[in-house]
Amino acid sequence: MIDDFILWGVSLATAGAIVLFYFLSFRRQRHADRERKEEAARLGFDRPRAQFPFVDAGRCVGCGACVRACPEGDVLGVVSGVATVINGLRCVGHARCQDVCPVGAIEVGLGDMKSRTDVPLMDEWQETTVPGVFVAGELTGMALVKNAVLHGRKVVERIAQRVDQEGARGAGDVYDIVIVGAGPAGLTAAALARERRLSTVLLEQEAGLGGTIFHYPRRKLVLVQALDIPFLGRLREGDYSKEDLLERFEELSRRARLDVRFGQKALEVTRPNRQFTVRTADGAFAARHVILALGRRGTPRKLGAPGEEQPKVMYQLTDAASYQGQRILVVGGGDSAVEAAIALSEQRGNAVTLSYRRDRLVRIKKKNEARIETALGSGRVQPLFGSQVSEIRERSVRLRVGDRDLELPNDYVFVFAGGEPPFEFLRRVGVRFGGEEALASSPGAPPS
Ligand SMILES: Cc1cc2nc3c(=O)[nH]c(=O)nc-3n(C[C@H](O)[C@H](O)[C@H](O)COP(=O)(O)OP(=O)(O)OC[C@H]3O[C@@H](n4cnc5c(N)ncnc54)[C@H](O)[C@@H]3O)c2cc1C
Repeated sequence: MIDDFILWGVSLATAGAIVLFYFLSFRRQRHADRERKEEAARLGFDRPRAQFPFVDAGRCVGCGACVRACPEGDVLGVVSGVATVINGLRCVGHARCQDVCPVGAIEVGLGDMKSRTDVPLMDEWQETTVPGVFVAGELTGMALVKNAVLHGRKVVERIAQRVDQEGARGAGDVYDIVIVGAGPAGLTAAALARERRLSTVLLEQEAGLGGTIFHYPRRKLVLVQALDIPFLGRLREGDYSKEDLLERFEELSRRARLDVRFGQKALEVTRPNRQFTVRTADGAFAARHVILALGRRGTPRKLGAPGEEQPKVMYQLTDAASYQGQRILVVGGGDSAVEAAIALSEQRGNAVTLSYRRDRLVRIKKKNEARIETALGSGRVQPLFGSQVSEIRERSVRLRVGDRDLELPNDYVFVFAGGEPPFEFLRRVGVRFGGEEALASSPGAPPS
């Protein structure tokens, strides 16, 4: 009898301990999610960049399956028993959360288009409010390599159809299509245009192919759904390394003999007559149609200091481990700058200095606050607050700190001064957007 009693007691205590353990860790997780949500709202990265998970709070049972399923991590959390978007900027639209939700409470989409001032108005063929100007890829608000490839195909099919029907062909030095942006959307468009015998030039502001993929961290696995790409054939569904995917795009460019012009940032698109002129700093390209496949990352903001054009100056860090034994200046005071400074300071033999124009770091994540304090405290990162870069030389960098000048020996400069989003460029082209505000601020009638 007593034995039974002890046995029951031990069993109940064990079961109680297990339940208590799970209850406490569940509560701890929910508490952490709430803090992350508050922090994200404070820093403004709870807002979406492209498509986005919309949660029906009435249906959500708060099980957290969506949180665990997200391949990018950190996008969703459960706050007050309901799945909530925490780090919207990290959502790239895989929609795994939607697939795993047991009660169908999540839908990944673009939401109410009337309120999206960052999504251009376009028809079913992705032609914008400026006839002849098309948009493709992530610029339309739809992320994913799959969508970029599908869009690249779709807009060229439409242009080819129009050229056949209306005979609106380029001739002489007027191209059929100028494509801007050599990410997956622009590359697919250029390859299909080649297949359809449309004359095309592809303008890319950077020095390499691949767009956003080029800037993924080294060896990042990219989830790709099955795709047909002109000149490459079928990419099967699965994980590809960043390097593998970039190699395929290089192969596509070689096979299709694409005319890609690197270092050519499109600054302006006008339509002085029946054709468009796309202007870059070095020249102008005339075409009957324009495809804007600019993505949504925009153009990194520059410092405007003499010497900034040198290749040792970079605007993002993809692989800290490639820099060892170097003297490095990181410029900026946001999370990207702080994360880069920390990662670089952890590599063997690096001397890292962090230059920021303000006198302290004010807009970084809590997690980074603690890490940078440790790095600054231990001397792994040297702070230069209240400083501005005045000149970048081959082996050194000059800074203005308060009222004195300083020259530091230097091998690399990483600048994290934010970016210029592509939407203003589109507005200058005359493209109108969904949100009321955008409509009001757009220059009205498209150029004729
Ligand atoms: C961290 C991260 C992880 C991701 N993981 C995945 C994943 O696993 N699977 C997946 O399917 N998707 C993923 N994505 C999303 C995917 O990378 C993008 O949706 C896709 O690259 C968009 O392709 P795009 O051609 O529209 O634009 P982009 O790839 O952004 O290319 C745009 C190009 O246009 C150029 N450009 C911009 N402005 C100008 C201008 N004025 N003049 C000339 N050139 C210009 C840019 O330099 C760039 O090369 C991820 C995104 C990120 C940020």
